[in-house]
Amino acid sequence: MAIDSRTVSYSIIVPVFNEEAVLPILLRRLDLLLTRLNGPAEVIIVDDGSSDSGTIVLEALVKRDPRYRLIGLSRNFGHQVAITAGMDAAQGQAIVVMDADLQDPPEVVEQLIAKWEEGYEVVYARRLSRAGESRFKRSTAHLFYRILGRMTSVRIPADVGDFRLIDRKVLDALRQMPERDRFVRGMIAWLGFRQTEVTFHRLERAAGETKYPLLKMTRLALAAALGFSDVPLRLAIWCGLVVSCLALLYGGWVLVLWMSMDSHLVAGWSSTMVVISLLCGLNMLMTGIVGLYIGRIHAEVKHRPLYVVQKRLGFDRAQAAPAS
Ligand code: UDP
Ligand code: MG
Repeated sequence: MAIDSRTVSYSIIVPVFNEEAVLPILLRRLDLLLTRLNGPAEVIIVDDGSSDSGTIVLEALVKRDPRYRLIGLSRNFGHQVAITAGMDAAQGQAIVVMDADLQDPPEVVEQLIAKWEEGYEVVYARRLSRAGESRFKRSTAHLFYRILGRMTSVRIPADVGDFRLIDRKVLDALRQMPERDRFVRGMIAWLGFRQTEVTFHRLERAAGETKYPLLKMTRLALAAALGFSDVPLRLAIWCGLVVSCLALLYGGWVLVLWMSMDSHLVAGWSSTMVVISLLCGLNMLMTGIVGLYIGRIHAEVKHRPLYVVQKRLGFDRAQAAPAS
């Protein structure tokens, strides 16, 4: 059955990076899911520069089954970019992002869709528990969501990954956000719209190993912190202010010592200390101020839309004839 692009209801985006071990069971579960959905669906698999034999399996699949589409990136661009590539190609009215390793169970997709049909535009899947992940990964993830929550002014839901459904309207708005350092779940939180959650127990990886080593996790955490919070910048200016004040006080104290002609003072020490501590404080303060400007530039170059419209009512009504 060929899919008419105008009538695709659901786009399911699956980023894949060296997942050959999990592909056979993933494809079986996806097939099952597709037959249970209440509308035509496409599966967009984004191959994020895999170097294993999975690519051949996927290419063969796409040739024989028109419900599947494949985007092969030229190298490993990372999970967030892979998701974005899939979203750019999605044609559905509801777009679902899920991991390839079945840690995001396909059955939950039906619950996401049920909420979407109730009228929610963003339905995210919150993890109640995480099985089969190291204590280190669980605790760093826990800490990450808590710290991020304190740092950001947009509410980014805790314990929620990229496993979620978004409405076409949200996707269109998301595509107006061209920022390069992407933290997609934060960007969707920033957009607003009617959001809700369903909960699930995160399973163990069906096969293979995590493709998120510490370095990639740190990079994601940095993208989140720098893209959605200006706390680090404000920290610089506060540090600068505090150090400058302390330097002034200290300078004052040294001057008092000097004037009291304390015999323990080495000649030249007081003036040197006053100058050094004051200059250090001023230096920090100035760095903080420059940081504020850089923050402004950062906000500008992100090119986020100024606002996002959820609905417009009464605009396309024909102009009412004035009463005479
Ligand atoms: N992934 C990707 N590019 C990467 C790393 C991961 O497309 O550079 C995919 C991976 O194939 C999987 C999903 O992103 O479908 C989540 O990765 P993983 O399950 O390894 O992360 P974890 O669940 O361990 O955090
Ligand atoms: Mg995983």
